Formats: sequence, C-alpha cells, structure tokens
Amino acid sequence: TPTIVWLRRDLRLADQAAFHAAARQGPVIPVYVLDDEVAQHRRMGGAARWWLHHSLRSLDADLRALGSRLVLRRGRSHEELAAIRRETGARTVHALHHYEPWWRNAERAVAQHFDLRLHHGNYLAPPGSITSGGGGPYKIFTPFWRALQQRLPPPMPLPAPQHLAPPAFWPASDPLGRWRLLPSAPDWAGGLRDHWQPGEAGAQSRLARFVVQAPSYEQRRNLPSVGGTAMLSPHLHFGEISPAQIWHAVAGLGGSVETFLGELGWRDYAQNVILQLPDYGSRNGKTQFDALPWRSGDAAEADLAAWQSGRTGYPIVDAGMRELWHTGWMHNRVRMIVASFLIKHLLIDWRRGEQWFWDTLVDADYAQNSVNWQWSAGSGIDANMFVRIMAPLSQSEMFGAGDYIRRWVPELASLPDSQIHDPVRRPDGYPRPIIGHAEGRARALAAFAAVKGK
Ligand code: FAD
Repeated sequence: TPTIVWLRRDLRLADQAAFHAAARQGPVIPVYVLDDEVAQHRRMGGAARWWLHHSLRSLDADLRALGSRLVLRRGRSHEELAAIRRETGARTVHALHHYEPWWRNAERAVAQHFDLRLHHGNYLAPPGSITSGGGGPYKIFTPFWRALQQRLPPPMPLPAPQHLAPPAFWPASDPLGRWRLLPSAPDWAGGLRDHWQPGEAGAQSRLARFVVQAPSYEQRRNLPSVGGTAMLSPHLHFGEISPAQIWHAVAGLGGSVETFLGELGWRDYAQNVILQLPDYGSRNGKTQFDALPWRSGDAAEADLAAWQSGRTGYPIVDAGMRELWHTGWMHNRVRMIVASFLIKHLLIDWRRGEQWFWDTLVDADYAQNSVNWQWSAGSGIDANMFVRIMAPLSQSEMFGAGDYIRRWVPELASLPDSQIHDPVRRPDGYPRPIIGHAEGRARALAAFAAVKGK
C-alpha cells in the first residue's frame, strides 16, 4: 500500500525527512491540504496565500520530474487524509513536526486515523529539546542560544529522492486555481512577482547569492539601503529550504558568519517560546501589559491607517511600510523601527501591528512575528523593556537610510541626505509628522508609568 507524505510548511524535496522515509517504503502520495478551519483566525494572510500558490505549483513540477505529483485537497486535514485513506488504502502518514498550536491539534486528529510518523528538520534542533539545567524551557534568548550551540552543527542535509514511486492510482486533486489564493481585482501582487521566486529552486538561488556576501553580514545587515541580509525568510517559513542546508552552506566561511547563524538561532528561539506559550500571538507575556491604556477610537484608527499606508510623515517609517505593501517583506532594522513607532509613538496595541504584518508579509510566521512584536513592545517574556523607545529620525540617519527612503518614498527622492531623514520643507503631498517625537515619547512613558508596578 502507498504511504502519504502530508506537507505543510515544508514544501521541498531535499533535506525533507518525510519524503526520505516514505520513499524507502514504496509508493508515495504527496498531499497538501489547505486547512483554513484548523487555523481559524490564524488562516494564512493575503501575501502568504500568494506565496503558497506559487510554491505549490513549483513543488508539483518538481514532483512530476520524479514521476510523482502533488495531491491538493481543501478542508480539515484529518478528514481529507482519511478520505484519501479510503480511496487508496494508505495507512501511514509521514510529516515534519510543526509547532503552531493549530498544527499540533491537527496532528492529534490525524494520529487517530493513521500511523503518523513525525520527523524533525525544520529547525536547527528540535524545539522543546533545548532545556535548562532544571529541565525547563528557556525564556531568554542568550542562554537558549548557548545551549543550542552545544547541539550544533545540525545533521548534514538529506539528499532529495531521485525517484518517487507512484501509487496504483492517484486520488482526486483540486485544481490549484480553484483555491483562489491569488488576488484578482485589484491585483496587488505585481511587486511580489517582481521580487520573489517562490519554491525550492528560488530558495537555492537566493542562498547562492547570499553565500558570497555572508562574511560581511555584520557590517551590512543593519543598512536598509544596502540590503545585506539573506532574504531567505519566506523560503524558510514555507520550508522550501531547511536551516541545516543554510548552515552547512555558510558555516566556516569566516568573517561575521557567526552573527548570521545567530539569527537562525533566533528563529529556533521563537518556536521555543510558542511551544511554552501557544497563545503568545494574542496574549501579553507580562500581564501588567493587560492594563496598558492603549489608544482606541477614531483618532487612533486614523493613525493606524496612516501607519499601514506609509503616510505618517516619518520618512523611514513610511519607506518601510511601503516596502512591505509593495514586496511583502521589510528589512529587519526597519521592522524594528516601524513596530516601535506604532506601539510607542502612536500608543497602539502591538497586536494591531502583528495582525497587519500577518496579512501583508510573505514570511508571516506565527512564532517569529509574535516573538518580535512582543519584543518590540517590551510585553514579552524576554528581557526587552517598554521604556526603550527608538528615535526613528536618528535611527534613519545612523543606519544611512537615505537611498532606501528615496526608493520607497518617491515624493522625497530629490532631497539630499542632510534633509531626507527629517525634511524641514515637505514636498507637496508628503504629510507632516502625525505626532512629534518628544510628544509621542512622553505619552508612551506616561501610559507605561500607570501600569509599571502592577
Ligand atoms: P537574515 O538577517 O538574513 O536572517 C536569516 C534568517 O534568520 C531569517 O530568514 C529568519 O528566518 C531568521 N531571523 C532573522 N532575524 C530574526 C528575528 N529577529 N527573529 C526570528 N528569526 C529571525 N521574521 C519572519 O520570518 N517572519 C515574521 O513574521 C517576522 N515578523 C517580524 C516582526 C517584527 C516586528 C520584527 C522586528 C521582526 C520580524 N521578523 C520576522 C524577523 C526578521 O525581521 C526577519 O526574519 C528578517 O528580516 C528576514 O530577512 P532575511 O531572511 O534577510 O534575514
């Protein structure tokens, strides 16, 4: 009888332990179930759905080259897999572990119908296996990373299967187009198409481009005008590439590669947090934040809309928010600046920002997004504090964001470096700052003072 490979955020053939194990057992049925019900309000956002469409198409083409194909179904994962079992007699399911609370629920349901074999391989080390001396999970990054490093390097990547035996007959599969994952009217995905190549081949070419730059990561990573980061996050999120593949491609190259590997460590750390606190995307890590008087009402909604559309009057914030809208991605330094600005200068609940990112990022990831938003807010279980308020104008200057702003805020394109970060005379159509830096800062600190001792 055939075995099923149940795919989720692991849309690759190489270093994919589920394919590796299933291929040795005989005929394989690769299945992707679009399961919006299990995720409920965490169903994939618009930008991620665009990515998913192209990634599935790419994986199907790669599978066909091996004599196989991808079976697409929509509905509840366990019900769809059970239906395939009735159609084909398959009794074993191979899959990679996923740690979002909804995927863990789905795994429990699938395990009721099948011999479910879960494999590792989407993280440097299995999340949950890195524990402190006392056996508990880590709350803070630095000791977590120290312990994780003891477990590295990760295992050498597994090769992609050379051939996947097809089942005696293929179960029914939905036409991908029927899922309507792509935007129609209006088609906002032009910028995404220009910037990305979803799928395993796209991930490998991004990695190849980064490898030559990796040794100078430290010097370049905070400069949004330069773009010295790997831009692998959506590929990693969808599992088109594994962290072990990246690790073994760059470790030992010298320079500041270690700093880059530490960022992969942050990715593992975020999963470690979600495993301890599954509702971290909606619940403050520090309970005193439950009482924080976030702004609400019409004025706050208008400010939120200005932030979302890149019209706050702060050039670096607006450049970042427009980059996000156009490409589905934003430079990490700028993500930190726009998050701090929303939470502190505008005193808007971090969860509103998290939701916007969830819908607009191609790399929207439950763990990484929640952990980074709570880090920015200072509301998390990590060590960061609310009172660290980023000054957007000096950050913009310090990290040489002039060219970045000129690219994403064309209204300001003619301004020289000396004026672009905080233009005195604003070109027509470019707004005045929606709040002054000192004023925003004072309001944020007063709001925090009200809950500080709680
Ligand atoms: P590189 O700098 O080249 O890093 C390599 C990889 O390490 C990344 O692809 C990513 O997987 C991981 N990584 C890097 N920085 C972090 C970090 N701070 N936390 C966790 N992992 C990290 N990243 C996401 O993948 N999905 C998100 O939804 C997400 N939301 C964020 C929200 C906010 C408010 C902030 C401040 C950061 C967020 N990040 C998120 C983290 C980070 O900004 C991106 O991972 C990074 O910009 C991706 O670009 P890159 O691949 O070029 O990164």
